[in-house]
Amino acid sequence: MVKKTLDFAEAEEVKLVRLQITDINGTLKNVELPVKRLEEALLKGVMFDGSSIDGFVRIEESDMLLFPDPRTASLLPWKSDFEKTIRLICDVMLPDGSPFEGDPRYRLRRIVEKAKTMGFEAFAGPEPEFFLINRQENDSKTGGIKLLDRGSYFDMLPVDNGEETRKNIVVALEKMGFEVEAAHHEVAPSQHEVDFRYTDILQTADNIQTFKWVVKTIAMLNGIQATFMPKPFEGINGSGMHIHLSLFSKGKNAFYDPDKSYELSDIAVFFIGGILKYASELTAVTNPTVNSYKRLVPGYEAPVNISWALGNRSAMIRVPSVRGQATRIEIRNPDPTCNPYLALAVILAAGLKGIEEEILPPKPVDRNIFELDSGEKLKRKIGFLPGDLKEATEKTEKSILVREVLGKHIFEKFIETKKLEWERFMKSVTNWELSEYIEY
Ligand code: GLN
Ligand code: MG
Ligand code: MG
Ligand code: MG
Repeated sequence: MVKKTLDFAEAEEVKLVRLQITDINGTLKNVELPVKRLEEALLKGVMFDGSSIDGFVRIEESDMLLFPDPRTASLLPWKSDFEKTIRLICDVMLPDGSPFEGDPRYRLRRIVEKAKTMGFEAFAGPEPEFFLINRQENDSKTGGIKLLDRGSYFDMLPVDNGEETRKNIVVALEKMGFEVEAAHHEVAPSQHEVDFRYTDILQTADNIQTFKWVVKTIAMLNGIQATFMPKPFEGINGSGMHIHLSLFSKGKNAFYDPDKSYELSDIAVFFIGGILKYASELTAVTNPTVNSYKRLVPGYEAPVNISWALGNRSAMIRVPSVRGQATRIEIRNPDPTCNPYLALAVILAAGLKGIEEEILPPKPVDRNIFELDSGEKLKRKIGFLPGDLKEATEKTEKSILVREVLGKHIFEKFIETKKLEWERFMKSVTNWELSEYIEY
């Protein structure tokens, strides 16, 4: 693999190498090297000062090593880089060669290992949504932000900058080795979605990071801005990132059993049971911003309740109708501001717990949950997702499962960061308050 990467760099006449890692907040960080250091980087790693990366700082040791994962090598597809560049996603190691416990990618690796010891391989495919906007124009109603179109789901607009940009995004992703499955206008004006093929869960987390970076870069090169903010505008749909997930065992889909109800195996049902049981503890990780909770309100195709359903899109977990090797669940609450390594790690861990503890979920909901009254919800054992970041953080802080999955280092830093974020929000005076109370 090392030789293959070196040969590739040589054949493509690559000049620069970008090594990437993700911090605790999900921000992609990178360091650039001349290509002559690629071999050394692949074989021995590259020393860096971890103390300046958010959530990495550790007093005992700030010297850390980046170990590029050769599987992630790909050429940067945009033209503005006058020197040919490849990027590699890295694992973070300590000088003694052991993995750094605060590296989000390592947290996901651990759960992948756990799944393996239980006999499973996890696959995931995301559906990230985003808005393409223009911030130069002045529009007081949306705070100086201009939507680019009035389109809706699957609309084919007269070609405008948004459509053009989305096309460029797809081309760039394909050049980087993504298998784009669909790209379309989403329900809200100026909102888009690009779906790419599912793959093993670690690679999917890498892909989500690359995807967001590509979308933002291509938008910028087109003179506009892409935002993954979950609910940028009141009154219209927000942006989610549904996660499709399945487990395979010996090459066979472990969620499929033609002899069971709904043709779902016990494994699938317990997996769902686990995610639902731990849902409220995981939410701060899957929906990590103050704004995330403005999306999780009734009426905008985003879930509010902890529930599962077969076709019904008002549930938190939906089981798409396909069966056989394509049997999977769709988890609908995550949004694209999550750190995908941590979010996929807690989701997978909760599902595996469900299998270990044989957690049976309540019956799937066959009605539009937004139309059920509270008595009906109680009867059907339908709980609520946390209503805001404060409640979500409090639930996560008490979670033994999340503490174990994130590891002490990330867990403590995460809780502290989220509490501070909430404090800052509580001190801010919003436009809503001004218009609501200014006449008092
Ligand atoms: N935008 C919706 C959400 O917030 C999803 C809409 C859809 O994909 N049908 O989850
Ligand atoms: Mg979709
Ligand atoms: Mg969608
Ligand atoms: Mg979906």
